[in-house]
Parts: sequence; C-alpha cells; structure tokens
Amino acid sequence: MQNIYDLSYTDLENYFLKKGDKKFKGQQVFEWLYRKRVTSFEEMTNLKKEVIALLKEEFEMRTINITKVEKDTDVRKYLFTLKDQEKIEAVLMNHLYGNSLCISTQVGCNMGCKFCESGRLKKVRNLEVHEMIEQILMVEEDCGKRISHVVVMGIGEPFDNYDHLIKFIEIVNHSKGIALGSRHITVSTCGIVPKIKEFMNLPYQVNLAISLHAPNNEIRNQIMPINHVYPIEILMDTLKEYIKKTNRRVTFEYILLDSINDTEECARELAQLVKGMNCYINLIPYNETNNISYKRTKSFNISRFYDILKKNRINVTIRREYGSNISAACGQLRSKKED
Ligand code: SAH
Repeated sequence: MQNIYDLSYTDLENYFLKKGDKKFKGQQVFEWLYRKRVTSFEEMTNLKKEVIALLKEEFEMRTINITKVEKDTDVRKYLFTLKDQEKIEAVLMNHLYGNSLCISTQVGCNMGCKFCESGRLKKVRNLEVHEMIEQILMVEEDCGKRISHVVVMGIGEPFDNYDHLIKFIEIVNHSKGIALGSRHITVSTCGIVPKIKEFMNLPYQVNLAISLHAPNNEIRNQIMPINHVYPIEILMDTLKEYIKKTNRRVTFEYILLDSINDTEECARELAQLVKGMNCYINLIPYNETNNISYKRTKSFNISRFYDILKKNRINVTIRREYGSNISAACGQLRSKKED
C-alpha cells in the first residue's frame, strides 16, 4: 500500500484530479498532514465521507515507532523501528538558533568509510520518502518543539538514495507544509560526483556539505573507498562548477584523525586545495568508536591545524560536539546491531 507521506503537494493535487475530483483537495489533505498534523484520515473533517474512505483504502499513514530516546545535555538520540523491524536513528540538537534534527537516509550504508561506525553495517535498503518525513514528525511530537533545521547527515549516504532525498526536500520545503526554508536544510555527502552535478541544477537553495577528510588522494584513498571512484581533483572541479552555478558556499567536513590527516603539512595542503573557493571548513574532532585503528587528534593539533588554515585566510570553524556520551555523535550511530 502506498504511504501518504510519499506524496508531494503536486502529487496530491494530481491524485485528486485523476480521480475526477478537485485539485484543491490536494491542498486540504497536505495541510491536514503537515499543518494540523493529524494521524488518521478520519480527522480530516472538511473532507466528504467517501473521500476519507477512499484515502483509507488506498494509503497508509504512520509506519515508524520510537523505540528508545536517550538524553544528554542539549541532545536527544532517537532510535526508530521501521515497519519491517529495521532500525534507524535520528539526533535532535538544541542550538541557540533553534532545534536541528540529523536524520538517516538508509538502513546501513555502503560507502565503507573506514573511520565511521554507521558504515560497518552494509546497506540493507534505502529509506522511503515517508520514513524520512516521519522522523521529523515523530521527533516534533515527542519533544513538543518545532524543528528549525534538518541536517541529512545521519546513517546512510543521501546521494545513494537520491530520488527519495529530492522528494523529501520538496515536501519539507513546501510553504503549505513543514515549510522549512531550503537554507535550513543541509545535505552531506561523501562525494558522489554525478549526483552533485544533478543537485546543482535543482531550484532549491539547500546547503551542501562534503565529507572531505583528507587533502590528497593518497590519504583519502586509505580512509574513504569512494575516492577510488571520484578522486579529489574530479570532486573539486565538480564543486567549483557547483559554486559557480549556484552561487552558494560549500562546507567541507574534515575529521581530524591522529597521525593520519592532522599534520601541519596536511593543513597547508588543504589550504592550497580550497584556496579561492567559496567555502568553509568545519574541523571535526574524531569521535572514538570501537575501531581502534583511529584515534582522536590531540587538542594541540586541532588548534595548530586551525591556525594554519586561518593564516591562509580560509574560513574555518571547529565543530561543537554533541552527544558523545550517548553515542549520538557523528559516526557513532547504530554501531551495535543488538540495539
Ligand atoms: N554519508 C554522508 C552523511 C553521513 S556521515 C557523508 O559521508 O557525508 C556524517 C558525517 O559524520 C560525515 O562527515 C562523516 O564523515 C562524519 N563521521 C563519521 N564517523 C565519524 C566519527 N567517528 N567522528 C566524527 N565524525 C564522523
């Protein structure tokens, strides 16, 4: 059975047109779902009984359940169980500027980044559009607050589930629904070049973040297998094209791993690599995981790395850390199968 949250505003309008009904019904249903947040078709009281009956027959609504919520200062980690019993996670962070939710896009991940726990479980399947939408709805209902920012940086590679991702963005961005401004949505990718090219042609002003993590192919090949397919020079050329086309700034995420990519030489090489680009670098202290091959860089090295980038006039920030006590930090999601 189709899920109602898989349908965009236009899909709903077309659905009613196809049934020989008024396009306007699409808007009504959309508003019930996202403005009034009903959880059953019966609650859509301005629709005729026959219409409600039809919707009930053809669509399902909520499918995901909150299984566990872990809390830490300013952060909550949600474990969800999906209809087929698979598990995913989302992380809510309270910032001064609002509440930001980090959502998952896949069950498992196939990108195989060596340092990331989420990728240790191979991809089981892509999430459906409704499963991404439902993460937002469920968390807002649970915490009683409005989510102001969505970061697509949880489990999975969003550009490996591209079509669903784009539909998801269309729905959350729509002014008659959740109405999250596109500048409040960030998609993070390990660098799937053909999808970055498609993405730059879309009308949305969504933020793009790139998991770079190394200043050259030699190091990147060791830690991110995707680099064998789309090496750094191709990735950078594509991003320059992206910036030119969209006039938007790109974020580079760079995890500092002890003795691997945290040297002075790496910092200088990184500065050279991004020089002149409209971008900023977000330095991420590595969250240690069960994988003993990688250690967090010493805090001395974080400031040294930062200073070198600053001296080269690169925009750089150090990411504030959230949730490491409850394994909700980047790369720590769903590391234990028994959850
Ligand atoms: N697949 C996407 C989104 C998920 S990963 C991507 O690669 O961007 C989200 C971010 O967390 C990425 O930048 C990833 O490299 C980073 N990350 C993974 N493991 C981490 C760890 N142990 N500590 C800190 N950041 C980590």
